[in-house]
Amino acid sequence: MALVVQKFGGTSVANLDRMRNVSELALRTQREGNQVVLIVSAMSGETNRLLGLAHQISATPDMRELDSLASTGEQVSAALVAMTIHQLGGKAKSFLGHQVRISTDAAYTKARIQNIEGSKLLQAVAGGSIAVVAGFQGIDPDGSITTLGRGGSDTTAVAIAAAIKADVCEIYTDVDGVYTTDPNICPSARKIDRISYEEMLELASLGAKVLQIRSVEVAMKYGVPVHVRSSFSDRTGTMVVGEEGFESVAVAGVAYDKGEAKVQLVRVNDKPGVVAKIFGMLAEQNVSVDMIIQSPSRGGGQTTDVTFTVAKTDLPRAKELIERTAAEYGSEPVEYDPDIVKVSIVGLGMRSHAGVAAKMFGILAGEGINIQAISTSEIKISCIIAAKYTELAVRALHEGFGLDKIPVV
Ligand code: ADP
Ligand code: ASP
Ligand code: MG
Repeated sequence: MALVVQKFGGTSVANLDRMRNVSELALRTQREGNQVVLIVSAMSGETNRLLGLAHQISATPDMRELDSLASTGEQVSAALVAMTIHQLGGKAKSFLGHQVRISTDAAYTKARIQNIEGSKLLQAVAGGSIAVVAGFQGIDPDGSITTLGRGGSDTTAVAIAAAIKADVCEIYTDVDGVYTTDPNICPSARKIDRISYEEMLELASLGAKVLQIRSVEVAMKYGVPVHVRSSFSDRTGTMVVGEEGFESVAVAGVAYDKGEAKVQLVRVNDKPGVVAKIFGMLAEQNVSVDMIIQSPSRGGGQTTDVTFTVAKTDLPRAKELIERTAAEYGSEPVEYDPDIVKVSIVGLGMRSHAGVAAKMFGILAGEGINIQAISTSEIKISCIIAAKYTELAVRALHEGFGLDKIPVV
């Protein structure tokens, strides 16, 4: 008998018919002799609808109330799926984050899980019930509801799997598994059978939203085997597992992220400590900065231009702070460009293959695409380009690195 965690994303619980599919699948798994914990997302579009309402009231709504609102989508799904299982003759019990006791810190809208109490879930499944958990939510030390960031139900699922020592965590979604790039924008994308935690972590960080970044971090830390698969077919999906025994290809996948905006502070005083001050102030407000470039201002003098990218969702909150900082350090008006995309290539084999970066730049140049910023790590290279080139760049890189062909290893 295995203990199985099954997570269903928004499209898998989009309406009552789909909830019935999900419930049948869970009951089948249970009949085969397993204990089952389900994690459900909000019905597709619901979280966006709720956040949209909040933003009609204010561009910067109170974050505690925002979480209280956003978490309700998952509550609806959990109760409806539990009722559907009852209707099909099974036993089920729904749980909200605080009822399980998923404890988090108080960083509203991007809280981190600190502890999960698994006993209630284990008790429910031992008694023959399917435990249906509302994903995406937790409770902070004060008792306020928190959410785990967009796509956070993946993290609920993997963290619960780790806490109750489940044998596998199955992530059911609207694609067959993890692909060499987003199959919705590149028709020649191929499903990957097995991918390492490290490569998956980079792909997720760089925009492949098929798994939330934190869920991969947790899977890697606790060694949870994750199976990403479709809720609409029985096909085997992608196993996300440890690195051992991998034939490391130079480039395993291409990702893109339209979620960042470029900010440029021009003519900042070029003195020790200024950049530390600017980014220190942003960090204090929980605004995370991704790429940073500092270059001498045109016309020379004792000034420098500081360009960086922040999440578009953080920008309304960060703007006032950025402008105050800019004024303090003598910069001319701040320039914003939201029409950018970060395209990235990821692969363990980059560690040992030379010339991968040069090849990437060559492919983009061949399409006439100008690179505005570059960042690299051991197993990834990212470029900021104009957003209008997203599809062209992803397809050209996918083909240029031979990802459309089955690897011969
Ligand atoms: P869910 O609602 O089930 O959590 P998501 O929309 O969060 O589903 O994630 C699935 C989506 O991730 C796919 O529909 C696809 O467009 C996108 N995606 C981006 N990159 C990849 C990739 N490399 N492989 C598979 N899907 C990807
Ligand atoms: N409903 C949340 C979102 O849309 C969490 C999730 O689906 O994983 O981001
Ligand atoms: Mg998701």
